[in-house]
Amino acid sequence: MFTWERVTSNGFELIGSDPQPLEATGRRAIRRGSSGGNPRIVGREPADGRGLRLVDYPGRVSVRPESTTGPADPMLDPGASYALDPRRVRGLLGGVAAATSGETFRTTAPFTGQPLAEVPVSTAADVAAVCDRGRRAQRAWAETEVRHRARVLLALHDLVLDRQAEIMDLIQAESGKARKHAFEEVAHVAMTARYYGLTAQRHLRGAPRLGAFPGLTQVRVNRAPKGVVGIISPWNYPFTMALSDGLPALVSGNAVVTKPDTLTMLTALSGAELLREAGLPDDLWQVVSGPGPVVGTALIDAADYLCFTGSTTTGRAVGAQAARRLVGCSLELGGKNPMLVLRDAAIGRAAEGAVRACFSSAGQMCVSTERMYVADDIYDAFVAAFLQRIESMRLAADRSFETDMGCMVSAAQLAKVTAHVDEAVAKGARVLIGGRPRPGIGPLFFEPTVLEGVRPGMSIFADESFGPVVSLYRFTTEADAVARANESGYGLNASIYTRDVSRGRRLATQIRCGTVNINEGYVPSFASIDSPMGGMRESGLGRRQGPEGIHRYTDLQAVASSRVRVAPVGLSDEAYARLFTRSLRLLKRVRRP
Ligand code: NAD
Repeated sequence: MFTWERVTSNGFELIGSDPQPLEATGRRAIRRGSSGGNPRIVGREPADGRGLRLVDYPGRVSVRPESTTGPADPMLDPGASYALDPRRVRGLLGGVAAATSGETFRTTAPFTGQPLAEVPVSTAADVAAVCDRGRRAQRAWAETEVRHRARVLLALHDLVLDRQAEIMDLIQAESGKARKHAFEEVAHVAMTARYYGLTAQRHLRGAPRLGAFPGLTQVRVNRAPKGVVGIISPWNYPFTMALSDGLPALVSGNAVVTKPDTLTMLTALSGAELLREAGLPDDLWQVVSGPGPVVGTALIDAADYLCFTGSTTTGRAVGAQAARRLVGCSLELGGKNPMLVLRDAAIGRAAEGAVRACFSSAGQMCVSTERMYVADDIYDAFVAAFLQRIESMRLAADRSFETDMGCMVSAAQLAKVTAHVDEAVAKGARVLIGGRPRPGIGPLFFEPTVLEGVRPGMSIFADESFGPVVSLYRFTTEADAVARANESGYGLNASIYTRDVSRGRRLATQIRCGTVNINEGYVPSFASIDSPMGGMRESGLGRRQGPEGIHRYTDLQAVASSRVRVAPVGLSDEAYARLFTRSLRLLKRVRRP
């Protein structure tokens, strides 16, 4: 097997395998032919100023390595690859704050199934110790000025943009998403860092409130950091979900301990590395590692506030555990997000937007559209336009920005999506396009899929698929469309396509979802960092982004002072009560709240 590798300052990184990804990058194999024995450099090509080399690893493909001692290394292990430079992987894994279990788990690249890393596992005791360390560091951090803390976020902003290629490589290697969707994460972290870096002072400033009596009582409300904020994050947006929720916690004077999903630890660790480089002092951002039911629960037991992003099932358990400790939590959970395409929608724009809404990150996105209600009058025209766009989508396991969709993150996710589609078809649903895995592209690829005839009783009708699958329904009246959009127990995101934006806004008020996007699927609300984002009903509690996204990490303290003694002086209690009553009536008359 041949691989193209780029020579970097500290090793090599995989560009692609010969021949397929080579074709995708437009490069030409310089020399072909196999050799027995050791890896052999069979070609070089100057590129990107650093140089590419074509390496022949004889017999590699068929052998699965069983090494448990570190990241798989093709120089030692014929089944492995340089999907990531082993030294880089070792460097990142050194960033796990504590992992004394002696256990590791192996992560693999969704594009190829090849090993990526042997990640060390933390114990519950490690998590408690890490939180203690964070709490000690937090005391001095909370004493610093907000603008000092904000500088770290603004430095992170620049680093993330400067290092975007390296970050996207990691995101793609671990999640299998397409390059353009990896870029969404880079952009979201940079936007979040910029927003809170520039607005934290305003959000955190103590503010006066109305006292009981004008001129006599003064009240000021302060915001104090909670202490240690725990962040539990999923694999689907491994960079921004591990990083963005923690930034407002940090700038408001908290320490952060994160437990990213086990599948995507390297990406999360690279975020922690960038924060250190941005000037963050030790122990204020620590990463622990391991299974949610052990390491996640230990974090809920030790943190002073918990921000969880993941499934509704896990979210219920997290919320219950936090409630037992009486610590606050925000829960960003799942969705079964509807899109309404109204009679007056611009069909081409709606079809183009629907592709983005349904298939970004291969549908593994909390705000992805999984149900579409299309006005009867334009249904056929819309479906034709939608299918035509899907047919021209490019699926590939590569790093090209031209690729429209990557793959599922894991075999479990692929199995879930396949089962949803197969069951629906067995019960009478029709596949308009897609419907099958595509192992020829990579082991975890599934086609972008559109179904008709989905009905209650099929899992896909109400359960989140979290894959590139959407069900289409006709509607005749908008009231019916809104009622069906609200049928789900979830309430995360919805979208409405209409030429009449005012009508879209009015309709949005009837939809019970935390975000509603008009003439787009999810990007405008996701990218508007000043506005709150989160779910109604079973899609969550609390909000990320905006003032709400930073205030959740603070405790409120009201400091009140009075110019006069509150107790009656020289008056009987009864006379005082009469005076008080007159004052209350007067305040209402002058409309003083
Ligand atoms: P998941 O709930 O299985 O896991 C999420 C995280 O929780 C992981 O880090 C996991 O290790 C941890 N975890 C698992 N069990 C735990 C427990 N008992 N206690 C503490 N932590 C535990 O979710 P998933 O399937 O990996 O992620 C996909 C889900 O996340 C989808 O439902 C998706 O909609 C949702 N999601 C929501 C948002 C949002 O903003 N609303 C964003 C991304 C993903």
